[in-house]
Amino acid sequence: MPDVDVELMNVTKMFGDFVAVENVSLKIQDGEFFSLLGPSGCGKTTCLRLIAGFELPTRGQIKIRGEVMGETPAYKRPVNTVFQNYALFPHMSIFDNVAFGLEMKKVAKSDLKTRVMEALEMVRLPQLADRKPRQLSGGQQQRIALARALVNRPQVLLLDEPLSALDLKLRKAMQFELKELQRQVGITFIFVTHDQEEAITMSDRIAVMSDGLVQQVGEPIEIYERPLNRFVADFIGETNFIDGEVAECNASQTVLSLKNGIKAGGRAQVEVQPGQPATLAIRPEKISIQPAHAGTVDVTHIPAVVEEAIYIGTDTRYTVRVADAYDVVVRVQNAGDNLHANRLFKRHDPVLLTWATDSALVLTS
Ligand code: ATP
Repeated sequence: MPDVDVELMNVTKMFGDFVAVENVSLKIQDGEFFSLLGPSGCGKTTCLRLIAGFELPTRGQIKIRGEVMGETPAYKRPVNTVFQNYALFPHMSIFDNVAFGLEMKKVAKSDLKTRVMEALEMVRLPQLADRKPRQLSGGQQQRIALARALVNRPQVLLLDEPLSALDLKLRKAMQFELKELQRQVGITFIFVTHDQEEAITMSDRIAVMSDGLVQQVGEPIEIYERPLNRFVADFIGETNFIDGEVAECNASQTVLSLKNGIKAGGRAQVEVQPGQPATLAIRPEKISIQPAHAGTVDVTHIPAVVEEAIYIGTDTRYTVRVADAYDVVVRVQNAGDNLHANRLFKRHDPVLLTWATDSALVLTS
């Protein structure tokens, strides 16, 4: 069995003059849960439709299981798609909805029943086989839509925002179910979503897209901890961006000059040169906050003043002013007893912000 299940090689898709997908190259591994993540209009659905064969690339090639797809029509590709709008046939029973694809393929009646019930077992709804779609909840209907795709035993399942019509609580429950199902059936899932939390929770790897381009591909932890550029750092989670200029760089750290004589150190994501404009990107939870007198100022111990402190139960969220020029958000977990210990800072308190060099990233794009 080939290790790479689906491969996009320099794929570009244009609609007229408009470039919807630009020179995208991806290798999706066999059995992987792979997400295409990005804001509306970034080209993720177009990528999925190209793999499915609903669109053909303007340039480049797509391989599935080592075979170049060329102009192979959708129905001849070893993939199935689950759409956001799951469109079950309302007049047909759940059984018949799931059986529909197999009937089209003229699968023998005895085999058909086994396979439909198997697919319904996979989504844990065999008891609903005789019902009509309107007698099912939204989550159950979505599971039937999955069963309808799984019954064809595709090698690759393409999922286009399949959970976005569900309410938040159900969506969260379905995220875990879908991930568990994928583990059980072991087939490759390619999942399109604009929801970063959903992608992080479910995926083995994520491709982050914007404006038709793949910005970064990696495991959720890599994407979150080591974003390659500002777009990725901003799209996934919350990040403080502090603009400055490279003052010095060596193997262990890169130091930026900020406004009003402040210097701050981090780890460069790409090679940088002194004098180059650069941004320090640092997540709110990677910063610790101490009383101003608790340490000596250096490039990872920066003086600041508390502007706002919001207690939100699990954490306290501070906005602090650095160098009288930058607002920085810091999140501190409220471990221990905060009621009596008087450990929380208040507006106007002078403080010292500290971080590990590796968790402050120096970005140039
Ligand atoms: P969404 O989350 O809103 O579905 P997306 O990232 O999936 O967004 P795509 O559907 O891939 O985005 O669309 C990418 C761009 O290509 C959009 O600007 C869209 O308007 C354009 N586009 C998609 N299909 C066509 C088409 N058939 N003809 C012309 N333009 C298209």
